[in-house]
Amino acid sequence: MDPTAFAPGYVRAISPYQPGKPVSELERELGIVRAVKLASNENPLGASPGVGDAVRQALQEVSRYPDGNGYGLKQKIAERHNVNLDQIVLGNGSNDLLDLAARAFLGPDASAVYAQYSFAVYPLVTQATGAFGIVAPAIDFGHDPKAMLSSVRSDTRVVFIANPNNPTGTFLDSGILLSFLHRLPQDVLLVLDEAYTEYLPPGSRYDSSRWLDEFPNLLITRTFSKAYGLAGLRVGYGLAHPNVADLLNRVRQPFNVSAVAQAAAIAALDDKEFLELSYTVNRAGLAQLYAGFRTMGLEFLPSYGNFVLFKVHEGTAVYERLLRLGVIVRPVNNYGLPEWLRVSVGIGDENELFLHALAKSL
Ligand SMILES: *Cc1c(COP(=O)(O)O)cnc(C)c1O
Repeated sequence: MDPTAFAPGYVRAISPYQPGKPVSELERELGIVRAVKLASNENPLGASPGVGDAVRQALQEVSRYPDGNGYGLKQKIAERHNVNLDQIVLGNGSNDLLDLAARAFLGPDASAVYAQYSFAVYPLVTQATGAFGIVAPAIDFGHDPKAMLSSVRSDTRVVFIANPNNPTGTFLDSGILLSFLHRLPQDVLLVLDEAYTEYLPPGSRYDSSRWLDEFPNLLITRTFSKAYGLAGLRVGYGLAHPNVADLLNRVRQPFNVSAVAQAAAIAALDDKEFLELSYTVNRAGLAQLYAGFRTMGLEFLPSYGNFVLFKVHEGTAVYERLLRLGVIVRPVNNYGLPEWLRVSVGIGDENELFLHALAKSL
């Protein structure tokens, strides 16, 4: 007898996350020499120069378990956000926090609400617990707070919002978020996923950590994978009321963030200059991509993140032609957007190469 037959039906029904194609895989498959990956919203500048030293230092202690409480990193985060250590949960990437929130708050008798065209991990972590996923219709490709509120049922325990949203790059300003929080029932956890917050232009920036005192049902998630350039090391964190943080810490694996990742994150947090440079390079890259799309007469969604969704009509065909030209972008069929592709903002040369290849692929 095959044990998979007895796995819960809701687990067998999960369709796995489709990651961006790694450069090495494309190079292996098509014999391409120097592929450009603009598929996973990584930082094209790499990471802060200070990260290298921190990592080398941490490598000398690899025989030791990491600090399971992440004291050093939590201290930095606490200073940064003006919160207490017991309000912080560290994660193996912020994906880990999404999963911890689902495991702590959901189960077969519960439901979670997320928006159409919002991050693919929300349905995944929801389904893995056996909870029911409610998809609130999007408005102009972004979150519709009204639709989300009216999707909340009596068994809803978690609402997920990505701000800015991936893959559409849309954004809800802080006033809208705050009024959403005021209207959300207090026994429903809002997971506010701020993976791209560092890319917001100055006029749109907001500090949701100030809302934690008023809203014990708020979990803010942040990552070192995007603007901080540490995607390969897997580190992120959550900020919440101590009671929520405590629950997440109970379901968390004791050593979920490696010592190397903790050391790198500490070094990365200190380098404001690198973050500023990443922001500036991203703004320039967005402008470059928009100009290219306009020249080609392609529709695109102006983005608050480090990526752009653009319309090509036959997403899969264009994606594959781009691959053969050595450029990896991200298909979004799995989001119900087969006519669109998502491209991450690269450095100037990469954007240029992409636009050139795109013109040839249409
Ligand atoms: C990339 C991304 C994350 C971060 O993932 P990590 O696990 O931290 O690498 C979280 N949420 C959204 C919406 C993302 O696009």
